[in-house]
Amino acid sequence: MNHDQGVISRYRDYLPVSEATPVVSLNEGSTPLVHAPRLSAKLGQDCQVYVKYEGLNPTGSFKDRGMTMAISKAAEAGVKAVICASTGNTSASAAAYAARAGMDCVVILPAGKIAKGKLAQALVYGAKVVEIDGNFDDALELVREIGALDNFEVVNSINPFRIEGQKSASCEIIETLGNAPDLHVLPVGNAGNITAYWKGYTEFHAAGKCQSLPKMVGFQAAGSAPLYHGAPVTNPETIATAIRIGNPASWDGAMTAINDSGGHLDIVTDEEILEAQRWLASNEGLFVEPASAASIAGLFKCLDKDRRCEKCPFAVVKPGSTVVCTVTGHGLKDSEIILKAEFPMFKAKTDKDDVLRQLGL
Ligand SMILES: *Cc1c(COP(=O)(O)O)cnc(C)c1O
Repeated sequence: MNHDQGVISRYRDYLPVSEATPVVSLNEGSTPLVHAPRLSAKLGQDCQVYVKYEGLNPTGSFKDRGMTMAISKAAEAGVKAVICASTGNTSASAAAYAARAGMDCVVILPAGKIAKGKLAQALVYGAKVVEIDGNFDDALELVREIGALDNFEVVNSINPFRIEGQKSASCEIIETLGNAPDLHVLPVGNAGNITAYWKGYTEFHAAGKCQSLPKMVGFQAAGSAPLYHGAPVTNPETIATAIRIGNPASWDGAMTAINDSGGHLDIVTDEEILEAQRWLASNEGLFVEPASAASIAGLFKCLDKDRRCEKCPFAVVKPGSTVVCTVTGHGLKDSEIILKAEFPMFKAKTDKDDVLRQLGL
């Protein structure tokens, strides 16, 4: 039977696993690379834009790619309990894979700053949830201290196995396109993902699986942009809670990816993020959470001569280029942000004529 059993079974040769590693998988990865005709038209010049729809992973975000590795390696080491700090998706993923492995899971969250859907996930998968009166950076600091105590394995992206698993996304893109894209746009928070993508691209390139490497273009939220400003941000703020991070753990990895690829890092505002989220849903049929829409908002900025930075690689994009935007998490995780906005709705009696009247038809 040729049954897909997730990231480790497909990329075993590129991952630090052995026969002794018990694979803990929920069949993550193999997410669709969806062609986006309207985004492509905006770019013009025969360029093609694809969206890597990571919301279709088992817990609704790309975090599952790294978590299958982190939990499998923890199981190999005989670990009984894992701990993580989270803006929401890491805790959802850790809780699910820990449940699968029969491990305890402790998650430390910034109180009131987690999208409801993500909190519900951590709870239903059976994690012990601790809310603190601090932000994600404070939570990660606590996890580093508690993780040092030896009873717990830390499964944040400071765990190197997370990055290893996450690099599978770029390998999938290469396999689907037959080569690496020319440009790859993605949101940047704790910066593990951009680090992982670049690692995947360079390793697959070295293995002869692609002929070229993409320019990596990262976007941070304007209120949480430490890499952009070149210094940690003490009180990061953005509605895109998954990238509300002031001191990224993978700072160096992100800068290496951007510099070595000839890429670029820029910021987008919350307003631009929300507008891009609605645009992607209503024009391409893809509903993603706000942090994910940062890559689409970023692409729009790159296409706007007046707003983009001088060094933006899209200023010199060649005709026929291929662009991939990663959208990192599913929109349903944070439905509140949509329902808070003033979308028009109609009210009518349970009556055909009244329904048509209210619709103005
Ligand atoms: C974790 C996450 C990010 C940020 O990824 P980093 O690896 O921390 O840069 C972006 N979007 C979503 C939906 C996430 O869950």
